[in-house]
Amino acid sequence: MAVSILLSALAMSAIVALRYVLASGGFALATRLRHRNLYTGLDPQIRREIGWSLLSALIYGIPAGVVAWGWQQHGWTRIYTDIGDYPLWYVPVSILAYLFAHDSWFYWTHRWMHRPALFRAAHAVHHASRPPTAWAAMSFHPWEALTGAIVIPALVFLIPVHVAALGLVLTIMTVMGVSNHMGWEMFPRWLVRGPAGAWLITATHHQRHHDQYNCNYGLYFRFWDRLCGTDKGLGQFKRL
Ligand SMILES: [Zn+2]
Ligand SMILES: [Zn+2]
Repeated sequence: MAVSILLSALAMSAIVALRYVLASGGFALATRLRHRNLYTGLDPQIRREIGWSLLSALIYGIPAGVVAWGWQQHGWTRIYTDIGDYPLWYVPVSILAYLFAHDSWFYWTHRWMHRPALFRAAHAVHHASRPPTAWAAMSFHPWEALTGAIVIPALVFLIPVHVAALGLVLTIMTVMGVSNHMGWEMFPRWLVRGPAGAWLITATHHQRHHDQYNCNYGLYFRFWDRLCGTDKGLGQFKRL
């Protein structure tokens, strides 16, 4: 049993690492095509980002692998595969519930990690990317990686979710994690600066967090930042 749990964790770590390399590599390539010299001079930093990210991938794989094993072997979790098990309207609701729960967890743990002692111990690694690049998506100290790694594996025990909806949640998580750090905005101006952008977080918003540290802590939504007065609005890409 211990061996199959270990194998499941290792397999999941490998999947997360591959997902990171493909997603960050893909957006780094897009960056090269769109803004040729944006990462010029950042090679040493990018090497550090990749190193921390691969270590994070290993950590992310452990709870995910254990839960995946329990789901397969013992029917743990509230992941369902038959779309008829819940009403169809529940699918978008469950996706939003996952995103909101993850966002809430991220906002409060992130704010907490900006307290000086915790910042030095855990979060400074992420902010060592100045400016962050597409490779910084998982550039976290192991302590911070641990806080992120447990979220989805915990939520699957609490909120029923169709396996495809969970796949979409993980895709959104991956794409936003990379694109929010890549140093330019891929979403159209009407979205970022329009009514939807007032509530959604994209690269322009997170850039300001990396410039100023003491604001814009959210992950997907500006809800908590606005509610708590930590939303300082959109940032600027000084390298463009
Ligand atoms: Zn960041
Ligand atoms: Zn931060």
